[in-house]
Amino acid sequence: MERWKKWSLSATTAAVAVLVVFYADPGPRPEYVAEPEVTVEADTVPNPPRAYGIPLSGFVLESFKMPQGSTFSEVLGEHGFNAAQVDSLVQASKAVYNVRNLRAGHPMALIFTDDGAREPHYLVYESDPVEHVIFDLRPPYGARLGRKPVHTEERDVHCVVQGALYNDMSGAGGDAQLALQLAEVFAWTVDFQRIQKGDQFTVTYMERSVEGRPFGQPIVIAARYESGGVVKDAYRFRKSDGEIAYFDAEGNSLRKAFLKAPLKFSRVSSGFSSRRLHPVQKRFKAHLGTDYAAPYGTPILAVGDGVVEQAGYGAGNGNYVKVRHNGTYSTQYLHMRKILVKQGQRVQQGQVIGEVGSTGLATGPHVCFRFWKNGVQVDHRREEFPSAEPVPTADRERFHGERDRYAVRLSQVRERQLAAF
Ligand SMILES: [Zn+2]
Repeated sequence: MERWKKWSLSATTAAVAVLVVFYADPGPRPEYVAEPEVTVEADTVPNPPRAYGIPLSGFVLESFKMPQGSTFSEVLGEHGFNAAQVDSLVQASKAVYNVRNLRAGHPMALIFTDDGAREPHYLVYESDPVEHVIFDLRPPYGARLGRKPVHTEERDVHCVVQGALYNDMSGAGGDAQLALQLAEVFAWTVDFQRIQKGDQFTVTYMERSVEGRPFGQPIVIAARYESGGVVKDAYRFRKSDGEIAYFDAEGNSLRKAFLKAPLKFSRVSSGFSSRRLHPVQKRFKAHLGTDYAAPYGTPILAVGDGVVEQAGYGAGNGNYVKVRHNGTYSTQYLHMRKILVKQGQRVQQGQVIGEVGSTGLATGPHVCFRFWKNGVQVDHRREEFPSAEPVPTADRERFHGERDRYAVRLSQVRERQLAAF
């Protein structure tokens, strides 16, 4: 459970400041309860506390979460704002932030004067751990966006695979989430279902935090996978066009592009749609694939390297094949006249895996092509795939410099770790 700070600070004279700090659980909004006051000399008070860039001297900050089923008006109504005032605030803020985007459960804070009037000055809403909106609750009202500083730190970890990479990573002192990130980075070059005990990963990664709390996923900067004498490196690199991608030591992309379609010459006869009139069933239903019409017997190609996960017959699908390309992507090919591969078989990009037919629920010869990303069916024609191009010539020198620096670092981390055993 996160804990939120609650501050109260009041300067009674120039010489004496009273600082009260305590912690309250989020959830039901805590009532303000004064703790015993701590009196200190002003010159021993470092910087007065601030929150969201606002100095809290003379203010009280009350933290809560946007309540479920509540509205902006209701939140403000609880603090004495009438409908006209809320409307003025909404109007004055709308160029900066639309209050309809407020979501339940997000942290909020009300900042009011630390006196008998308890006059609300600011309402803060955290859109995410970094960004927030500060509403000015005093006429003429208004809002501005703010960002908390994100602290980044480069860390290293070396791990020898014993069992689940997730556990091995955290056992070696790294972020367990790195297991997922590595599976993405090496998706096309390492089969994560076949990692062996004794294989090694060395990783330099970036950890981000906001106010001391980890934020977002760790980012792999450089990684080395070693298995039975085979070494595979990955380097994160920002090209001069701004795109960030992972490359091997030679500067080749760690991604491979898919074929645009499973047929050499093809015509889309029905696109991906969440609602279309089914040609056989004559009712509206989602079509989570793309139909390519072609004559009977036209070769159907695997759009990428992979393993045949399913090859069989279904009443709707007819003869079909499903190929798992990596931990992220799978593709399926339906209504085949003939299946030319077997379950468990490895296939190469462009390999013929079947022939166009109209088995199952089909009105004519076509292949229904389905595309999964992380287990969800998506329209592959709308997906943005990471570039599979190598490091551009103009960026080569800079890439080599970064690669050399991190390659040395990975070797040192690995040696240090192995020497420790
Ligand atoms: Zn279809």
